[in-house]
Amino acid sequence: MAQDGTTGVVTLEPQQGERIRGVAAGLGGTADADMEITRPELLEARRTGDIGLVHSWELVTAVDGPGTRMTIFLSGCPLRCLYCHNPDTMEMKEGTLESVESVANRVKRYKRIFDATGGGLTLSGGEPLFQIAFTRRLLKMVHSAGIHTTIDTSGYLGARLRDEDLDNIDLFLLDVKSGDEETYQRVTKRQLQPTIDFGDRLSEKGKRVWIRFVVVPGYTDSEENVNNVADIVARWTNNVERVEVLPFHNMGADKWKKIGMPYELDDVTPPSPEHVEHIRDIFRSRGLEVH
Ligand code: SF4
Repeated sequence: MAQDGTTGVVTLEPQQGERIRGVAAGLGGTADADMEITRPELLEARRTGDIGLVHSWELVTAVDGPGTRMTIFLSGCPLRCLYCHNPDTMEMKEGTLESVESVANRVKRYKRIFDATGGGLTLSGGEPLFQIAFTRRLLKMVHSAGIHTTIDTSGYLGARLRDEDLDNIDLFLLDVKSGDEETYQRVTKRQLQPTIDFGDRLSEKGKRVWIRFVVVPGYTDSEENVNNVADIVARWTNNVERVEVLPFHNMGADKWKKIGMPYELDDVTPPSPEHVEHIRDIFRSRGLEVH
């Protein structure tokens, strides 16, 4: 998911006549609001990707990829990161049902802005590969309209992407949340290996990748863990363009409480700038470009 969707939000001039940031309701326009569908029809539509559960969306600059981007947050994620700042996207509960055509059409309306800024669409979440059929079709529609596409993923479900899907994705924001199985599972409740496998595959294919690593004091910031992450990323120097080292923050805590989930990181304070810089240096020592 977006590591810091709270910065870089821009607003358009009022003549655009609509919200550019908000919950997903209305993303698909009135056609979806009028959509009536039975439960079996809905299950079928989810299977085919005709319909997806969209949590929210925003237009951002300088985060989630290059240029000005429409970042769409899709519901559903198999991980349970302790520091998740969008815990309301973990379950397939919140959001609005949107048809893939209407979402693609909405994205395409911003093509002029994307072209002018070098931006495009970023699918985030949650985990965009959780609703794989919807994601696959949306990426294809948007990419074939000449719009730059990015997915923001943990890589845990990377095997769900077929090779032809990879052709519809211009940039991968790949989170490597820790560098060994034990730490990874402590932080995410899932396994690390699928992320490594996916990174290896992207490297073999020469796909553009930006790596993200979140510094969580007491959890992910030990020398050993950071060196392990750096070693993993160093396998992919042919296609990794940058590493983004992001300091943990507590801004998601309220959301955890609001949805009644226990938040374990209340006592964790953000890392000092010096510590973050030291961690960036560890990545730089592997010849990686770090931001
Ligand atoms: S991968 Fe982790 S941080 Fe991202 S949405 Fe899932 S639980 Fe949250």
